Amino acid sequence: MNAILNSRRRFLKTAALAAASAPWITRFASTARAEGPDRKLGFALCGLGGLATGQLAPAIPKTKNCRLAGIVTGHPDKAEKWKAQYSIPDKNIYNYENMEKMADNPDIDVVYVATPNALHAEMAVKAAKAGKHVLCEKPMEVSVQKCRQMIDACKAANRLLAIGYRSRFDPNTQECIQLARQKVFGQTKIIEAGFGFRIGDPNQWRLKRDLAGGGALMDVGIYALQAARYLSGEEPAIVTALETKTDPVKFKEVDESITWQLKFPSGIIANCSTTFIVSGIDSYTLFAEGGAFGLSPAFNYDGNRGMRTDGRRIQYPPMDQFAAEMDDFAQCILQNKPSIVSGEEGLRDIRIVTAIYESIRTGKAVPLA
Ligand code: NAD
Repeated sequence: MNAILNSRRRFLKTAALAAASAPWITRFASTARAEGPDRKLGFALCGLGGLATGQLAPAIPKTKNCRLAGIVTGHPDKAEKWKAQYSIPDKNIYNYENMEKMADNPDIDVVYVATPNALHAEMAVKAAKAGKHVLCEKPMEVSVQKCRQMIDACKAANRLLAIGYRSRFDPNTQECIQLARQKVFGQTKIIEAGFGFRIGDPNQWRLKRDLAGGGALMDVGIYALQAARYLSGEEPAIVTALETKTDPVKFKEVDESITWQLKFPSGIIANCSTTFIVSGIDSYTLFAEGGAFGLSPAFNYDGNRGMRTDGRRIQYPPMDQFAAEMDDFAQCILQNKPSIVSGEEGLRDIRIVTAIYESIRTGKAVPLA
């Protein structure tokens, strides 16, 4: 009971602060106040492409604290389809141009941004200005400056921002993080991590610089980068990188394959790779003084599993990473606490991504202050 009261007090305080700094969210705040800490938050999916259709919408019914309340789409035909399939009322259907009207809609608490990478900031800022919390897909954005815009907009509106790093909610990954933190196999020395696949359609936005911001590194290499950071538990001090392009026509605008190394302050070295040219690279291994462990596959939606040199297996029952990620964000909102996959966490990755590209361009090691 005390916990509920404390949480309610914290919430009222936040809502009052929010209302003071952002008067347009008063209506939203008063509706949320009327309900308890176990309520289901209304999510609006923004960008109804492959991820939203195939993963996010099907994950929502598996959550405890989330419900599909609305959509944001540029396609009226998709709006009709989703409206019928998920019984979404007309008042909760928006397009990219009228998202600010969400400020008048207390049914929507969170906007989940799942558009191409270079549109994340635009959508996140609009959502925050309408008084909505923002869960944004990875990579957070295509530049440090645009990541900062997102963080600033959410701070100004007193709304939470989190990045869709679903792997952090996979129990297989969580066991590896625990093993590393508790030094079960001793001090970490070397981390190997890679994620890549053979990309199909040569005309898709993932191969266009203005929409993707980069190629394999932005799309899937970021998972290997995250792994190096969450396994080491440190921020890299220096980065070196090398790129190769065997299909300069298909990969005219973006990177095809990159290997990079991170050196961490304690002396841990991470050796990472990513590619858009071959499938099957999907693993990490942490080598410590007294043994090793890791996952292979490591970054799939399901079926991830791994090994430990003490002979134990790492393999948890199937679960939905997206549902766990959305529920975690809902709990952060309901309990007014920051997410472990906050905007700042997304920004850290994009800073390193930028340094990797700089190292490729200059041929030099790039220090990260
Ligand atoms: P997609 O191409 O299937 O969908 C993109 C959606 O954005 C489409 O509905 C499209 O209509 C819309 N859109 C709006 N403006 C657009 C424009 N100017 N050009 C192109 N499309 C536009 O892409 P996706 O695979 O759903 O990826 C969306 C986001 O989700 C990306 O940021 C991607 O990195 C991320 N993603 C994450 C995971 C994960 O495992 N967490 C998996 C896939 C994609």
